[in-house]
This record gives sequence, C-alpha cells and structure tokens, in this order.
Amino acid sequence: MTTREGSLEAPKRHPLNWKQADFYNEDQLLEEMGRVFDICHGCRRCVNLCTAFPKLFDLIDDGKTGELDGVEKQTFWEVVDRCYLCDMCFMTKCPYVPPHPWNIDFPHLMLRAKAVKYKKQGAPFRDKLLANTDTVGKLATIPVVVQMTNTLTKVPIARKLMESTLGIHAERKLPDYAPQKFRNYAQPNANFVEKKGARTPGKVAIFATCYINYNEPNIGHDLLQILAHNEILTCLVEQEVCCGMPQLELGNLEKVEEYKNKNIPVLAKLAQADVCHSFCRTFLHADVQARITADVP
Ligand code: SF4
Ligand code: SF4
Repeated sequence: MTTREGSLEAPKRHPLNWKQADFYNEDQLLEEMGRVFDICHGCRRCVNLCTAFPKLFDLIDDGKTGELDGVEKQTFWEVVDRCYLCDMCFMTKCPYVPPHPWNIDFPHLMLRAKAVKYKKQGAPFRDKLLANTDTVGKLATIPVVVQMTNTLTKVPIARKLMESTLGIHAERKLPDYAPQKFRNYAQPNANFVEKKGARTPGKVAIFATCYINYNEPNIGHDLLQILAHNEILTCLVEQEVCCGMPQLELGNLEKVEEYKNKNIPVLAKLAQADVCHSFCRTFLHADVQARITADVP
C-alpha cells in the first residue's frame, strides 16, 4: 500500500467495464467491497453524505470485532440498498479516487453491486414500474386519466390499496402529473442571432427529462423564458427517451444502454453542431449514460 495520504490530482473516472466476464462474479464483488469498506472504515469522511456510510460504519462498529472481519459479507447489501448513486462521495469528498493508487470509486462499486443483484434476482414489480418513467408518464398524462391519477394519489383509501398491492407507502408524497406535457407546449426561440461566448456556443438544446415533461413542465417553461430573456437561441432536442437514471438505480444496465443508444446519437449530433445541451433537471444528465460506456463523445 502507498504511504501517500490523499491525492491533489483531478479525479479520473474509469468506465464501468460491465461487459467484462467477471463483472457479475459475486465473490469478486464481495471481495472488492471488503477492500473498499475497510478503507472507508478507517477514513469516515463521508459519514454525513447519505445513509449508506452510517449503515456501513454501524455494521462494523456493532460487529463481533469492531473491524470489517467481524461483519457478515451478506450484510454488505444493506449498504448497497442505501446508495442512490448521487456521486457526491466520488466528486466532492474522497481523496482516494483514481489516479490515487487505492482506486476508490464508491458509487461505481455500488452500481456494480446493484447490477449483480439485478442480474441475479431482478427487481420487485413496484421498482420496475416506478423506474419506467417514460411509459408511466405517457399513460398517466392521457386526458381525463391525468385528473383521475392526481386525485387517486391523494385519497387515503386508494393509497392504502396501493400500499398493499404495489408496496408504495401510503404516506409517501407522490408527484402530480401535468395535464399538458412540456414537449408538446414548449416554445423555444430559434430566432435570436447566435452570440458565441468565450467558452459557450451561444445556442442551447433542451433535453427535458421525464420529470419535466410529465410532472413539472413549468420548470422547463421558466428555463425557456430565462433563455429568451438573455436572447439565447434555443431548440428542443429533436427526440428523447428517459435518461436512464431510474434504471441505473435498479442496476438494469442493459436498459440504460438501450436508452443511451437512442439519446446519445441525437445529443452527439447537437454537440458536433456546437450546441450546448441544457438539462431541465441537473441530476439527470448524459453522465448517467457515459458511466456505462467509453464511447460517449
Ligand atoms: S454515491 Fe451513494 S454512497 Fe456516495 S454519497 Fe451518493 S448515495 Fe452516498
Ligand atoms: S469514499 Fe473515500 S472519502 Fe468517503 S469514506 Fe470512503 S475512503 Fe473516505
């Protein structure tokens, strides 16, 4: 092991290599989790980022030895379930990310674990349903259905029924669906004269995302108004499907690749035309798809 404490170099993210033969090898995964968890146990910088790290440290502290060797490997999955892949630990906290020789990429390790779990046992119907944001959004925003959906999700008896059949907690606040989809009513302004900035192309293409398209279209309309106020030439991405984040969280990497193959050629064409992509929801981005591929431009 190196004696160098931390790294001052920019983080380097390696692709996930999810098509390599041993990616889904559970024994190898658990061994790598053990290596990384042991380093995290000695470091603990990420304790306040999410509930995954406190869970990990509790498992170790409450274990037989107070060290990682006192923890049953099967309990590692409790840590995996608490990670929602926000990437904060990699991007903002960890001094041991590549190119540091300890090579810690905690979110990618959790993603690999989710993929192994999905490959082995799939996902419950509820998770599959909720991760299908595009299909559910299309169905839920059909005229008349949308009003019924929004009403039913607030009626206690209907919520109890949803809890018993689908496993969605009766008190979980669910987002409303919008009667008018963003992409159907968006009015991007393509008439401004293109003004290139020092580091920006002066043109914006909007990739709306499912959430803006079906649930919160006003955020997208507000963004268009801000762009128009600043006289920035704007268009909608010609076609888009789900960015893949919900499927990534399930570990369904094949589905993420399917979405990537639909979205990236459209975005790549815009990038080659020197257009900046504006994402209505910053957390949903092409990086989701870039994580599983090395060929994103
Ligand atoms: S990527 Fe996962 S483990 Fe890291 S901070 Fe986000 S939720 Fe926590
Ligand atoms: S991910 Fe890095 S910074 Fe966070 S606890 Fe683990 S070793 Fe420490």
